[in-house]
Amino acid sequence: MRKKLVVANWKMNGTSADIGAMLTAMQKDSVILNQIDVSVCVPAVFLSNMHAACGPLPISWGAQNVSDKAAGAFTGEISAQMLCDVGCSTVIVGHSERRLYYGENNHWVAQKWLATRKTALTPILCVGESLSEREKGQTLAVVMAQLDAVLKITTAKEFAHTVIAYEPVWAIGTGLTPTTNEVVSVHTALREHLVKQYDSATSQTVRLLYGGSVKGDNAAQLLTLANVDGGLIGGASLKYDTFSPIYKALI
Ligand code: PEP
Repeated sequence: MRKKLVVANWKMNGTSADIGAMLTAMQKDSVILNQIDVSVCVPAVFLSNMHAACGPLPISWGAQNVSDKAAGAFTGEISAQMLCDVGCSTVIVGHSERRLYYGENNHWVAQKWLATRKTALTPILCVGESLSEREKGQTLAVVMAQLDAVLKITTAKEFAHTVIAYEPVWAIGTGLTPTTNEVVSVHTALREHLVKQYDSATSQTVRLLYGGSVKGDNAAQLLTLANVDGGLIGGASLKYDTFSPIYKALI
């Protein structure tokens, strides 16, 4: 049985005080938070504060991006090992905003993903189609190509226990969501694809998150579907009052 996972993606928002306020408010939910996994991915400059800010809170924290390189003359980059050094457990890889605004293609995303597997970080690989791709009936082809770029350079052992987030690009920050049938059909196809590429046992260790306009009022519906193991949450993860109903909906 896979434990539910909720990942907060703060994107380029908030201050250290905002993060502290949310984590302090979350302390009262410790009993709930012990039953699921929650990881808060904050801007990189705040990561080294997270150990102190989280205190006894039973959650982990992570980054929103990582370099594909291990070390060296790569100005502005942050390596997977550095993220481990400041206590990160997770890292978002290949978010659609990075693909769209920073030119991260499938090959580059796969190299970043591989860099994380040389450390203890758990990568959260984002895949998802644009609106025009969905309208042309290309959803599964796009999503599988994004996944295959990683699968072709990794082994079943390396892929086991990692996370894939299905995030339709048109659903991110728009208030639009796919139907529950559409979500189940992509997630089931992802799971079956992993069985085909590797084996059933490996596939069962991988958590498949849904992301895109998840809020307190649709979390129970979207995040408890077959083959949905939790959610990747953007806008609603910035404040306790909007984030906590999402993880509470999974209990
Ligand atoms: C995201 O950015 O990963 C995301 C899912 O955003 P939102 O929840 O705001 O749609």
